[in-house]
Amino acid sequence: MITATADFAPPAVRQTGILIGDKFQPAISGRTFSTVNPATEDVICEVAEGDAADIDLAVRAARQAFDSGPWSRMDARDRGRLLTKLADLIEANFDELAALETLDNGKPIGDSRAADLPLVIDCLRYYGGWADKIQGSTIPVRGNYFCYTRREPVGVCGQIIPWNFPMLMVAWKWGPALAAGNTIVMKPAEQTPLTCLRMAELALEAGFPPGVINVVPGYGPTAGAALVRHPMVDKIAFTGEGNTARIIMREAAETLKRITFELGGKSPNIVFADADLDAAVAGAEFGLFFNQGQCCCAGSRLFVEESVHDEFVAKVVARARERRVGNPFDRNTKQGPQVDQAQFEKIMNYIDRGRSEGASCVAGGNRVGSKGYFIEPTVFTGVTDQMDIARDEIFGPVMSILKFKSTDEVTLRANDTSYGLAAAVWTRDGAKAHALAHKLRAGTVWINCYDVFDAAAPFGGFKMSGLGRELGEAGLANYTELKTVTMALG
Ligand code: ADP
Repeated sequence: MITATADFAPPAVRQTGILIGDKFQPAISGRTFSTVNPATEDVICEVAEGDAADIDLAVRAARQAFDSGPWSRMDARDRGRLLTKLADLIEANFDELAALETLDNGKPIGDSRAADLPLVIDCLRYYGGWADKIQGSTIPVRGNYFCYTRREPVGVCGQIIPWNFPMLMVAWKWGPALAAGNTIVMKPAEQTPLTCLRMAELALEAGFPPGVINVVPGYGPTAGAALVRHPMVDKIAFTGEGNTARIIMREAAETLKRITFELGGKSPNIVFADADLDAAVAGAEFGLFFNQGQCCCAGSRLFVEESVHDEFVAKVVARARERRVGNPFDRNTKQGPQVDQAQFEKIMNYIDRGRSEGASCVAGGNRVGSKGYFIEPTVFTGVTDQMDIARDEIFGPVMSILKFKSTDEVTLRANDTSYGLAAAVWTRDGAKAHALAHKLRAGTVWINCYDVFDAAAPFGGFKMSGLGRELGEAGLANYTELKTVTMALG
């Protein structure tokens, strides 16, 4: 997907306001916050800082659009066409959006272009195709009645997203919500508001009626919390940390909102001795270091069977050392900076803790340069199950390698976590792979691959990794209410 024609330079920022209805506007308070380029630590621009007052306006606009605007009367197929049009406009502005994502988030331009943008476009097109295929059924009830079900939109959806895949999280949230006929108030992450605002501008250009999509940048405890509490909001879809999810669940209890969560993980990536070792090494590298390790499904507990452990470690360490860390606008960069100072410090802290817990740091372990939040790809061996680096989500380029001897043992150890987002198994024995895939308590299991995402394949967590599913038909179901209609026939 990377083309030679692209000019990989930071683009001009077009939108920094709050979108309510069809207007970008300053915050009622007049306040702004800075969004920072994590590669240089320079302020990119100021963005309107929404709070409860702006959220209230946005929710009212979304409510009105849902209850009585043209959106509420639009044919499902036309909703689908709008989603497809938005995907087309994103494709038409591909270079700008990819560069804006790299500027605000720090991810390598090669990743923005080869992963984020194509997945965004595909997701919106996929859900565009669903809009006129959301069907109910007829039910053969007892007696002389005609009984059928309808899948209706939930209503006004508050969507709160994180900073690791800013545009992709927008697509995962908007696609199913809009296909099903809901209206939206979105709060992007304070670290990365820019691509969401640009996508909102393109949504207006595509022809979404005013109030269908509203975007309020701001902070979690102010703007985010106000969205969760607002009585006119029917559903909250949140992606982020478990601790934030706990707060949201408590706050949403007051109005009994529908909730879906996509949270953290400490995903086991299990390499058997009978695996294609080079493929497993490549998959382990990608599964952990991709996106600077800032993936909720990162393969951050890497279990390697004892008999191939040393060979595996030698190969994975060589690959970690070869990863090119640097300017995210360079097409050859594999790893950019972490998203902000707080994440940088948290990760460096875990690296210190890994050393003091007795694990061996066999690659990396240091900051890169003195400006920007760059960290060396880091590998720990000799990690044991109770160490913090084996239990906590680090959300950075820190690989923890653990040894195992048998399938039964690794199954128990892999499941010994409060998380359950993803897992992977590497082996040439298909029966063993599927048997283990069925035992792993995780929402996604990859076999001989990692981080393979598709808009049609549901994604979400068991246990403390989530509630509900995103993507696929399952993701759509979470944006509908099921209504039963029964009519007496005589
Ligand atoms: P991360 O570590 O990915 O930043 P968070 O859970 O802190 O995870 O943030 C994810 C999103 O949740 C962000 O948009 C953030 O502003 C928002 N958020 C944080 N705290 C709250 C809260 N108390 N209520 C609602 N949203 C919140």
